[in-house]
Amino acid sequence: MRILITGGAGFIGSHLVDRLIADGHYVIAMDNLVTGNLQNIAKHTSNTKFEFIHHNVSNHIHIAGDLDWVVHFASPASPVDYLELPIETLKVNSLGTHNSLGLALRKNAKYFLASTSEVYGDPEVHPQPESYWGNVNPIGPRGVYDEAKRFAEAITMAYHHKHNLDTRIIRIFNCYGPRLRFNDGRVVSNFIHQALTSKPLTIYGEGSQTRSFQYVSDLVEGIVRLMGVKFHEPVNLGNPQERTVVELANMIKELTGSKSEIVFKPLPTDDPKRRLPDITRAKKLLDWTPEKDLVEGLNTTIAWYREHLPQVAAAKK
Ligand code: UDP
Repeated sequence: MRILITGGAGFIGSHLVDRLIADGHYVIAMDNLVTGNLQNIAKHTSNTKFEFIHHNVSNHIHIAGDLDWVVHFASPASPVDYLELPIETLKVNSLGTHNSLGLALRKNAKYFLASTSEVYGDPEVHPQPESYWGNVNPIGPRGVYDEAKRFAEAITMAYHHKHNLDTRIIRIFNCYGPRLRFNDGRVVSNFIHQALTSKPLTIYGEGSQTRSFQYVSDLVEGIVRLMGVKFHEPVNLGNPQERTVVELANMIKELTGSKSEIVFKPLPTDDPKRRLPDITRAKKLLDWTPEKDLVEGLNTTIAWYREHLPQVAAAKK
């Protein structure tokens, strides 16, 4: 198949590029490199079944030739990024989703939207099933991401109903692994970065808030499985093991052997208190459950950071 991945140079996008190329597909990665990185896809540049196009999908998208899939992953996705890029985030998930849907329609291609657990906001229902409508503050700092992704889901369903477009929607819960940007401000990247550079680990609030962390290869497996099933409503993809932020900090300290202290900082506005996916739908529909154990996944990620963090890699030489 010939597949366009928007956000193809990003963290999850580039892992999906790897997988789809390994599965024998022709992949076009499109990215404006605002939060993506060409290093993530460097190994494919000489592959004749791979193309990179530097483009912002909030503007009209032109692709020559046929497409079987348009897979829309472009968006700043870490809270720090979308707070710094609020308008870009709103645009890529509204205009960018509209443009990519229009492209799919024109090419008679199938369409895959990367949505997010942030559509549930600060949830009042635990775990969160897809039927939960969420608890989102539209005008709070996270609204630029949450509401834009909610709009993206709405317009994707509208294209499905109105134009009969063959669509998929996933809601991605916290995901980690190699290539998570060192400075993207997320909890896993911050803690590993801090632990390896002997800086204090910064816990926001009391650290009793929870997340559930899925390893990127589990997510990619879920994505590929959903591409093979005709199902149009959203599907949660996440790891149902809930951890507090304090637990995560202690795990990362232990796994890195770091002597960093732990410090407490103010909790960001509207930071969700609990997040936990109900993955019953993915289990039934895709026969999918996340397999990677958190310790194993963190060890792989830490090893990658040791190789790639400039200060740490330089000290080893
Ligand atoms: N967090 C933290 N210290 C950090 C970065 C994040 O305690 O250095 C907390 C953050 O307040 C949130 C959780 O970790 O409760 C996960 O944050 P992240 O930015 O990774 O993603 P979110 O799940 O909030 O979108």
